[in-house]
Amino acid sequence: MKVYVYSSHQYDRIPLEKACSGKHQLTFSHKKLSVDSARGAVGNLAVSLFTADDASSPVLEILHGLGVRYIALRSAGYDHVDLKKTGSLQIKVANVPAYSPYSIAEHATAMLLALNRQLIQSQHLIALQDFRLDTLTGFDIHGKTIGIIGTGKIGMAFARIMSGFGAVVIGYDPVQDPDAAAIKLKYVDMDELILRSDIISLHCPLNEKTKYLIGKSQFEKMKRGCILINTSRGGLVKTEAMLEALENSSLGGACLDVYEKEKGLFFEDHRTSILKDQLFARLRGFRNVLITGHQAFLTNEALRGIAETTNLNLDCWSNNTASPNELTAWAAA
Ligand code: NAD
Repeated sequence: MKVYVYSSHQYDRIPLEKACSGKHQLTFSHKKLSVDSARGAVGNLAVSLFTADDASSPVLEILHGLGVRYIALRSAGYDHVDLKKTGSLQIKVANVPAYSPYSIAEHATAMLLALNRQLIQSQHLIALQDFRLDTLTGFDIHGKTIGIIGTGKIGMAFARIMSGFGAVVIGYDPVQDPDAAAIKLKYVDMDELILRSDIISLHCPLNEKTKYLIGKSQFEKMKRGCILINTSRGGLVKTEAMLEALENSSLGGACLDVYEKEKGLFFEDHRTSILKDQLFARLRGFRNVLITGHQAFLTNEALRGIAETTNLNLDCWSNNTASPNELTAWAAA
């Protein structure tokens, strides 16, 4: 199958070529899919997309007009695809529902440790030959209460790590995992989780129901000094409300791998441009906010998993069979 691969980088190109092993004709583009770049896919039956690509209705119309009938997502999340539109255009869409949940769970842990134990600041001080410790005090995770919102594959992997640290792990998810009791994860309702947690980590998908799940009223209910970790999707958190909570010091810190306005910012080199996003500029200014640019998935194992499942999805479509990972409009509801 001829596939136009948008938003490709060296790190995902090599595993994808290896997984496809010449079966599919891949054309790689570093460009993001948008109304302007959609025509690049002419002559291809499929496109492959990542999270920053725009698969909204007008873009899908263009792709369909060019003869594109399949979209192979290289991500688990599909909030960037208008699934109602792909359904009406009869474009098939498949995602990569699972690929090393450890990559994201371990990144969330790394961010929490780095923020709490002031590792970034410590590194800067060492570079300056300032070996004083006065500003570097952290806290033990052992004994703290960790609230996990969304106990699917990644949430459970994070719960296991936190359980290993000796933390008290509580979770909220409309669908409970039967393995929760084995790792001493106790389910509570959302309000109780917000009120009790010292650290809250988000691991649920972004959809119409979860947009701004964490807003002003949730920040007001949180324990003073609570740390928020978001490695899921930026739109789960209302950034304005988070800034307010950081400014009045009620929120103790934030570890953010995702940001609600990351499209057009993350994954790109903006070194020579002026940062126009005032929300991001304010966020970046906080000493107790650690930001990474949507890199939680970036391990060799995760890249290999993404490439293999993408190849499986393309193989199925090439053989005129349904992929087990196909998404339908109801998935977005
Ligand atoms: P998953 O489907 O295994 O788990 C998601 C869980 O969220 C499910 O158990 C579901 O029941 C629960 N959920 C749904 N609505 C909820 C709500 N309102 N409140 C609480 N829980 C709710 O998915 P996963 O593989 O664990 O991935 C979770 C999310 O992580 C993805 O949706 C994606 O947005 C994000 N992600 C981020 C990266 C990254 O690099 N930063 C990489 C992969 C995935």
